[in-house]
Amino acid sequence: MEQRERLRIGIQKNGRLADRSLALLSKAGVNFDLRKDRLLHASPDFPIDLMLVRDDDIPAYVNDGVCDLGIVGENAVQEAIWAAPVRHGHGVTKLQGLGFGACRLVIAVPERLPFDGLASLRGARVATSYPNCLNRLSTEEGLELECIQLAGSVEIAPGLGIADAVCDLVSTGGTLRSNGLREVFTLFETEAVLLRTERTLPAEMERDLARLALRLKGVTRAANAKYVMMNAPRSALERIQQVIPGMESPTVIPLSGDGDRVAIHAVAYEEIFWETLETLQACGASSILVLPIEKVIA
Ligand code: ATP
Ligand code: ZN
Repeated sequence: MEQRERLRIGIQKNGRLADRSLALLSKAGVNFDLRKDRLLHASPDFPIDLMLVRDDDIPAYVNDGVCDLGIVGENAVQEAIWAAPVRHGHGVTKLQGLGFGACRLVIAVPERLPFDGLASLRGARVATSYPNCLNRLSTEEGLELECIQLAGSVEIAPGLGIADAVCDLVSTGGTLRSNGLREVFTLFETEAVLLRTERTLPAEMERDLARLALRLKGVTRAANAKYVMMNAPRSALERIQQVIPGMESPTVIPLSGDGDRVAIHAVAYEEIFWETLETLQACGASSILVLPIEKVIA
């Protein structure tokens, strides 16, 4: 294996994850000079090079050490590495979920087909782009499924009469429904993840990798985090903490000239709805502000 001095990260070239992956890296302060028809793109901000590839190839590149890091749907990792272990390579580790690209791998059957648990699929022909995940399910559940492997447009296979069911990725389920299919079983939920090789890198590169991973964690955490400020009677503090789940040890500041009322400042890691604000108001809170957070390092 060649010795590199700079980290290399693989992300999807075109598709559902491509823009979000670049935007996430940019928020972590890592931008790239994208040059057409180049395989590698250097970052002027951080010692890392970018490889733009097909999403399905990212797990294998990270496993083989071609890339040290990758951003890819966990579904692709399941299919390429975890559902049917590969003998060569260093192995890959999921460092963290990234909060986008959420969907699930499901079994769907024609609406008119009776379904009474997985056993009713015994011996069925199932169209999928996820043969390893499907075969693992078939073996675990003793279903003896016949896997019809298709590269895309899996949802039309039952209509064409070449499959009895499909095993496909869905987010809203609209594509399945418009093809007369209904979801009956979920194999797993998935989202985009940060993947690293299990190979130990030279110390300097390990340091850079840890720095980048920490920044990406900061960006992802910040995406869900809000800074909440309000004034309230001191006696309402406990109730308020129950109303805002995920609110970490708030700062409580006495308000000058008012013995009972305090200012409460806190970071909340869960979504705050209008209903939550109305409940806070009912607890006696006023001047409630909810602000976005740009970066977090815990
Ligand atoms: P490539 O050309 O890179 O192979 P692709 O066509 O295989 O692209 P996309 O359709 O862009 O891949 O999907 C990439 C990833 O987006 C999926 O592997 C999955 O993790 C995620 N994703 C999110 N929502 C959906 C969805 N509704 N259907 C399919 N994939 C989804
Ligand atoms: Zn793909």
